[in-house]
Amino acid sequence: MASRKLNKKQLREKQIVENKQFNKTMLISFSLLLLTLILTLVFYTYGCDTKYAYEKFALYRKEVPKELVCMSDNRLQYHESSKIMHKNKAFYICSSRCNQHFINHYREVAFVTDAYSDKIICKSDAIVGLKEKNQPMLVYFENIENFKNFYIAKTSKTNMK
Ligand SMILES: [Zn+2]
Repeated sequence: MASRKLNKKQLREKQIVENKQFNKTMLISFSLLLLTLILTLVFYTYGCDTKYAYEKFALYRKEVPKELVCMSDNRLQYHESSKIMHKNKAFYICSSRCNQHFINHYREVAFVTDAYSDKIICKSDAIVGLKEKNQPMLVYFENIENFKNFYIAKTSKTNMK
Protein backbone atom coordinates (compact mmCIF):
# COMPACT_ATOMS: atom_id res chain seq x y z
CA MET A 1 0.00 0.00 0.00
CA ALA A 2 2.79 2.35 1.01
CA SER A 3 4.64 1.94 -2.27
CA ARG A 4 1.44 2.54 -4.28
CA LYS A 5 0.85 5.71 -2.32
CA LEU A 6 4.37 6.78 -3.02
CA ASN A 7 3.89 6.07 -6.69
CA LYS A 8 0.79 8.20 -6.73
CA LYS A 9 2.69 10.93 -4.97
CA GLN A 10 5.57 10.61 -7.42
CA LEU A 11 3.12 10.69 -10.29
CA ARG A 12 1.55 13.85 -8.93
CA GLU A 13 4.96 15.46 -8.54
CA LYS A 14 5.86 14.44 -12.07
CA GLN A 15 2.64 16.03 -13.31
CA ILE A 16 3.39 19.22 -11.40
CA VAL A 17 6.84 19.40 -12.99
CA GLU A 18 5.34 18.75 -16.42
CA ASN A 19 2.69 21.40 -15.85
CA LYS A 20 5.32 23.87 -14.80
CA GLN A 21 7.30 23.11 -17.95
CA PHE A 22 4.19 23.47 -20.08
CA ASN A 23 3.39 26.80 -18.45
CA LYS A 24 6.93 27.98 -19.09
CA THR A 25 6.69 27.05 -22.78
CA MET A 26 3.31 28.78 -23.04
CA LEU A 27 4.69 31.89 -21.35
CA ILE A 28 7.68 32.04 -23.71
CA SER A 29 5.49 31.49 -26.80
CA PHE A 30 3.03 34.11 -25.63
CA SER A 31 5.80 36.63 -24.88
CA LEU A 32 7.32 36.06 -28.32
CA LEU A 33 3.93 36.53 -29.95
CA LEU A 34 3.34 39.73 -27.99
CA LEU A 35 6.81 41.02 -28.85
CA THR A 36 6.23 40.35 -32.56
CA LEU A 37 2.90 42.15 -32.36
CA ILE A 38 4.45 45.17 -30.62
CA LEU A 39 7.35 45.34 -33.10
CA THR A 40 4.92 45.16 -36.04
CA LEU A 41 2.83 47.97 -34.54
CA VAL A 42 5.91 50.10 -33.85
CA PHE A 43 7.13 49.51 -37.40
CA TYR A 44 3.80 50.54 -38.93
CA THR A 45 3.53 53.58 -36.68
CA TYR A 46 7.10 54.85 -36.76
CA GLY A 47 8.52 53.05 -39.83
CA CYS A 48 8.13 56.07 -42.11
CA ASP A 49 9.53 58.49 -39.53
CA THR A 50 12.55 56.29 -38.99
CA LYS A 51 13.11 55.87 -42.73
CA TYR A 52 12.76 59.62 -43.33
CA ALA A 53 15.12 60.52 -40.49
CA TYR A 54 17.60 57.96 -41.77
CA GLU A 55 17.43 59.27 -45.35
CA LYS A 56 17.98 62.89 -44.30
CA PHE A 57 21.12 61.69 -42.56
CA ALA A 58 22.36 59.03 -44.98
CA LEU A 59 21.68 60.80 -48.29
CA TYR A 60 23.81 63.83 -47.40
CA ARG A 61 26.71 64.07 -49.88
CA LYS A 62 25.03 61.38 -51.99
CA GLU A 63 22.95 61.65 -55.11
CA VAL A 64 19.33 61.75 -53.97
CA PRO A 65 17.05 59.46 -56.02
CA LYS A 66 14.58 61.70 -57.85
CA GLU A 67 11.56 59.67 -56.81
CA LEU A 68 12.32 60.78 -53.24
CA VAL A 69 12.10 64.51 -53.95
CA CYS A 70 9.49 67.11 -54.83
CA MET A 71 10.81 69.50 -57.46
CA SER A 72 8.03 71.96 -56.70
CA ASP A 73 8.81 72.63 -53.05
CA ASN A 74 12.45 71.42 -53.27
CA ARG A 75 12.28 69.07 -50.34
CA LEU A 76 13.15 65.46 -49.67
CA GLN A 77 9.84 63.65 -49.48
CA TYR A 78 8.34 61.65 -46.68
CA HIS A 79 6.79 59.29 -49.23
CA GLU A 80 7.73 58.56 -52.82
CA SER A 81 6.75 61.27 -55.30
CA SER A 82 5.20 60.85 -58.73
CA LYS A 83 6.93 61.27 -62.05
CA ILE A 84 5.22 63.72 -64.38
CA MET A 85 6.06 64.58 -67.98
CA HIS A 86 5.94 68.24 -68.90
CA LYS A 87 7.23 69.64 -72.20
CA ASN A 88 8.88 66.25 -72.86
CA LYS A 89 10.85 66.39 -69.62
CA ALA A 90 10.45 64.26 -66.51
CA PHE A 91 9.86 65.91 -63.15
CA TYR A 92 9.07 64.51 -59.72
CA ILE A 93 6.22 66.03 -57.78
CA CYS A 94 4.74 65.08 -54.40
CA SER A 95 1.10 66.16 -54.60
CA SER A 96 -1.61 67.55 -56.86
CA ARG A 97 -1.23 70.92 -55.11
CA CYS A 98 2.49 70.98 -55.95
CA ASN A 99 1.71 69.76 -59.46
CA GLN A 100 -0.68 72.66 -59.97
CA HIS A 101 1.90 75.12 -58.68
CA PHE A 102 4.52 73.55 -60.94
CA ILE A 103 2.39 73.79 -64.09
CA ASN A 104 1.24 77.34 -63.30
CA HIS A 105 4.74 78.62 -62.53
CA TYR A 106 6.72 76.34 -64.82
CA ARG A 107 9.30 79.00 -65.81
CA GLU A 108 10.23 79.81 -62.21
CA VAL A 109 9.80 76.37 -60.67
CA ALA A 110 11.33 74.04 -63.27
CA PHE A 111 14.59 75.97 -63.49
CA VAL A 112 17.07 76.58 -60.74
CA THR A 113 20.62 77.77 -60.28
CA ASP A 114 23.33 75.15 -59.89
CA ALA A 115 24.31 75.47 -56.22
CA TYR A 116 28.00 75.37 -57.12
CA SER A 117 28.34 77.24 -60.43
CA ASP A 118 25.23 79.49 -60.25
CA LYS A 119 24.37 78.51 -63.82
CA ILE A 120 20.64 78.21 -64.59
CA ILE A 121 19.71 74.57 -65.14
CA CYS A 122 16.53 72.58 -65.60
CA LYS A 123 15.61 70.38 -62.64
CA SER A 124 14.73 67.46 -64.91
CA ASP A 125 18.39 67.09 -65.97
CA ALA A 126 19.90 68.04 -62.62
CA ILE A 127 21.71 65.95 -60.06
CA VAL A 128 19.93 66.35 -56.73
CA GLY A 129 21.60 66.57 -53.33
CA LEU A 130 20.78 67.58 -49.78
CA LYS A 131 21.82 71.10 -48.82
CA GLU A 132 22.49 70.25 -45.16
CA LYS A 133 22.77 67.03 -43.21
CA ASN A 134 19.49 66.14 -41.43
CA GLN A 135 17.61 68.84 -43.38
CA PRO A 136 15.11 68.12 -46.18
CA MET A 137 16.10 71.10 -48.39
CA LEU A 138 17.52 70.21 -51.81
CA VAL A 139 20.23 71.63 -54.02
CA TYR A 140 20.57 70.97 -57.75
CA PHE A 141 23.67 70.56 -59.90
CA GLU A 142 24.40 70.57 -63.61
CA ASN A 143 26.90 67.70 -63.34
CA ILE A 144 28.64 65.35 -60.93
CA GLU A 145 31.77 67.59 -60.71
CA ASN A 146 29.75 70.52 -59.39
CA PHE A 147 27.96 68.14 -57.05
CA LYS A 148 31.26 66.89 -55.59
CA ASN A 149 32.86 70.35 -55.47
CA PHE A 150 29.88 71.78 -53.59
CA TYR A 151 30.36 69.35 -50.70
CA ILE A 152 34.16 69.66 -50.76
CA ALA A 153 33.83 73.46 -50.53
CA LYS A 154 31.28 73.10 -47.71
CA THR A 155 33.54 70.76 -45.74
CA SER A 156 36.61 73.00 -46.06
CA LYS A 157 34.50 76.01 -45.02
CA THR A 158 33.35 74.30 -41.82
CA ASN A 159 36.90 73.09 -41.13
CA MET A 160 38.24 76.66 -41.34
CA LYS A 161 35.85 77.90 -38.65
ZN1 LIG B 1 5.61 68.97 -53.23
